[in-house]
Amino acid sequence: MKLIDLPAQKEILWHRMRSDLISLVPWFADNDLLLCPTCCRPIGYDDSSVEHIVPKQALACDPPEVREAIPQNERSGLTLLCAKPLIIKGKRVPGNGCNSWKGKYYDPCLRELLNADFQTKRINSRHQVSLYCAGYLALVRQFGYQVALSQTGLLSRNQFFHPNTFLSEVPLTCQMMLTGGRRSDFSDDDRSYWSNPFSISIDGPTALIVLRNIGFRVPLSHDPSQPISRVLQYAPSKYAFRPDLRTVFE
Ligand SMILES: [Zn+2]
Repeated sequence: MKLIDLPAQKEILWHRMRSDLISLVPWFADNDLLLCPTCCRPIGYDDSSVEHIVPKQALACDPPEVREAIPQNERSGLTLLCAKPLIIKGKRVPGNGCNSWKGKYYDPCLRELLNADFQTKRINSRHQVSLYCAGYLALVRQFGYQVALSQTGLLSRNQFFHPNTFLSEVPLTCQMMLTGGRRSDFSDDDRSYWSNPFSISIDGPTALIVLRNIGFRVPLSHDPSQPISRVLQYAPSKYAFRPDLRTVFE
């Protein structure tokens, strides 16, 4: 089952992400822009595009009965990224923004990971950074801009542009992964294994993320499942959130 109406999905994501952003950075109500969750540049609707966090090329390798039973969008997890060319250190990067960047550096590695036999597969640091970045996007998808605009969000956004090695600020616990055997069959009892690609639990200063048969951690500055003040200008520090709008590059 392929599915589905991506234009409508894009519009739904756009409005959901806009209202979340406005609740944290109220002056965005005066424009019609979003911040790209990875480069943090302001983008208009036409410069954004739907991103499959678990890439389509990985989903295409799912067993036929899974592909038949569960739509692609559900198995993937969707968000919006920019599709406007990146300019890094004065040079235009070929392709369409963060969407192409993820497609080039991370999607092939994610496909390999999700189809790997870990008894024999050799894992390199690009694989691990790919997982980290997919986990970061899954966190933004679930908890919104409070993840992207936090101190560790800035670190993760920076990491996104360093595909080959972990930055030294990334905690060591977030540079490793635990793996199990992957499933290759489908039954209604294990539907959520396929339909809910990321299961996330908050564990102190990290989010423990399970992507199918792979577990790993992504750092967090604060627990995004706890309430923060979105209306009061002055709130007790426990409930306050100061968005960090710095970008990694101009
Ligand atoms: Zn971007």
